Formats: sequence, structure tokens, C-alpha cells
Amino acid sequence: GCVIGVFTSGGDSQGMNAATRAIVRMGIYVGCKVYLIKEGYQGMVDGGSNIVLADWKSVSNIIQSGGTIIGSARCADFRERPGRLQAAYNLLERGITNLVCIGGDGSLTGANLFRIEWSSLLEELVKTGRITSQKAQECAHLNVVGLVGSIDNDFCGTDMTIGTDSALHRIIEAIDNINTTASSHQRCFVMEVMGRHCGYLALVAALASEADWVFIPESPPEKGWEDKLCEKLAQERSLGQRLNIIIVSEGAIDEEGRPITADQIKDLISKRLKYDTRVTILGHVQRGGNPSAFDRLLGCRMGAEAVLALMEATPFTPACVISLNGNQIVRVPLMECVARTKEVQAAMDKKEFQKAVELRGRDFVA
Ligand code: ATP
Repeated sequence: GCVIGVFTSGGDSQGMNAATRAIVRMGIYVGCKVYLIKEGYQGMVDGGSNIVLADWKSVSNIIQSGGTIIGSARCADFRERPGRLQAAYNLLERGITNLVCIGGDGSLTGANLFRIEWSSLLEELVKTGRITSQKAQECAHLNVVGLVGSIDNDFCGTDMTIGTDSALHRIIEAIDNINTTASSHQRCFVMEVMGRHCGYLALVAALASEADWVFIPESPPEKGWEDKLCEKLAQERSLGQRLNIIIVSEGAIDEEGRPITADQIKDLISKRLKYDTRVTILGHVQRGGNPSAFDRLLGCRMGAEAVLALMEATPFTPACVISLNGNQIVRVPLMECVARTKEVQAAMDKKEFQKAVELRGRDFVA
């Protein structure tokens, strides 16, 4: 079997532990050695006790925990060649030539770059006498597989990213809780949810919670929206509805491209309608708590497939991402997904919303 290193990088998300567990156990099951690399790329660069051989028990009792037990970090060193050279050395010391990167598009881009650069890193290590040429020959290729951990569901090429479903659960729980208190007092709640440039969390939360209004970056409201929003709220109240819920995605913008904030909506409603209006910004609560059953299974399925992909990799196989496509776990080319994700970003920046939504394809509920 092969020697695999697994690490989590970038923002954490619920379900990453399920993926780590599946990689370790599937790896051991098929005869591989699996190392846990702690603190993302930083642990790879620092080496030492950051890179530890896993056994079956190392990943017991973690499937139900949020976050990532092996730690995640952002790492400036890995962005520079000397950092990657040291990381390569640390992997080679342990014979690791297979990596599973669980992270966002930045982390996956870094992993792919590392893979492409691998042979020149080996050359430099041989030249400087840090490794033997025999070692370089044995470890000539680095295989890379990516898993996308992100609560935002903003990655192209997979229907769902690991953590999105759990984040939705947190949002829905919060709205349900607010529902009980707000309706006793006839209040209006404006809730800001995460998602960066992607409105997925806000949109799905709005659908699932019977919200009155939702602001998402992909669909800025038309001019005059302030009047329409107030009319809608007043109409709901006149029909006997005792509370109003408005959801604002953190990247939401108005018709002129200016950010829409929860406070701004609150001021509008309190001033015009004189409703008792409160703002709730969920923040990191959305990343917290235990992963949902969906995210646990998604992590398991993707993790197991990642090991199989590594075992079948040849020097000519490009890096892939394990993704969910219509409830099937499939392998897709890593750089194509990263490129499309960047294209969506660019389209959003240029306010080409239709194009952005089309590029995302069916992994976005539109
Ligand atoms: P999130 O979606 O949570 O932001 P991410 O993986 O996109 O996750 P980044 O901060 O972009 O998060 O990247 C995480 C780490 O990956 C960086 O700190 C850096 O160490 C590494 N990395 C990112 N981009 C590159 C790159 N182009 N070259 C080398 N390393 C990179």
C-alpha cells in the first residue's frame, strides 16, 4: 500500500473529522500507512510531532465532533518555495508521497502547485545533499486528492461541500428559537448569515424557515426595494402574522452594488414601520456544533473514495477533487474546479450574476 498524509487547511467545517476518520480507516483497511498532519500546511512545514502515524484508534470517537481534531491553519511559509521545500523534506523523511487536502480552493490550489513542483523540489534536496538520489527515485511523484470542506457551498464541481448542511442546521435552529420569542412580542428579526460571495446558506435558510425576505449577493434587489420590503412586512402583519424574519447574506449588495447590512435594514424598518426590530448576526455559531448526519456521511464517503483515488493514481493522473454529483461520489479534475470557482468569483465581482449562477450549475439552488 501507499503512504498517505492527510491534513485540514483554511477555515474549519463540520464533517472534516468524519473525512479524516474515513481516510485513516480506509487507508489502513487497504494496507496503506496514514499520517495525520496537524495544523494544515504549517504542520507540514514544521514537521516533528506535527506529523504522526495514525492507527485505527487515533480516529475513534471523532465522527460526531465539529471542527477538525488535527487542527487547521493558514500558513504564509507554504506560499514561498523555501517553505514548500522544507515541507517536501518532512514528507520524504516519512516516505509520504500521497496527500489528501481537506480545505477550500486556496488550500487545494496550494496542494496542486506542490504536486507540480515536486520533482524540482526533489532535485534541489538531492543537490544540497539532504536526500539521496535513491530516495528521490522512490518518491518521484506526489499524488494529490482534494476534499472540499467549507460551510459556504461556494466551490464549483460538487453539489455540496463538507459542512454546509450542518451550518444550515445551526441557522435553522437559531431562526426557530427566535421564532418562539419574537412572536410573543410581535417583533421583526433581521438575521445575518455567512456565505461570503455565495448566497446559498441565506437562500436555503430562507426557504426552510418561511422568512419574509432574503438578500443574497447573486440577486440584488431592484430600485425601490425599501418600499416593497416595508409593504410586504406590513401586509404580513395585517394578515395576523406576529413576527417577521428577514435574512441577509453577508455578501448581499443593493441595486448600486453597495453592501446591504442587517443594521441598515433594521433602521429602515424601525423608522418607517415603527416595528420593534432586532438584529442577530450568527457568526461562528454557524461553524460550531456537531456535524449533521448528512455531513458525517458525506465526509465518510468522500474520505473512502479519496484513498481509492490515491491507490489508483499514476504519474499521469492529474490531481482530483472528490465530489458529490447527484448523490454519486465522483472524481473531478482539481484545477478545472478551482478555475471555475475563480470564474464565478470574477463574474460576481463584475456583477454578472446570471453568468455566475449558470457557472455554478446545479450545485446552486437558483
Ligand atoms: P477557506 O475557503 O476557508 O478560505 P481556503 O483553503 O481557500 O479555505 P486559504 O486561506 O486561501 O483558505 O488557503 C489556506 C492555506 O493554503 C494558505 O494559508 C496557504 O498556506 C495555502 N495556500 C493557499 N493558496 C496557495 C497558493 N497559491 N500557493 C501555495 N499555498 C497556498
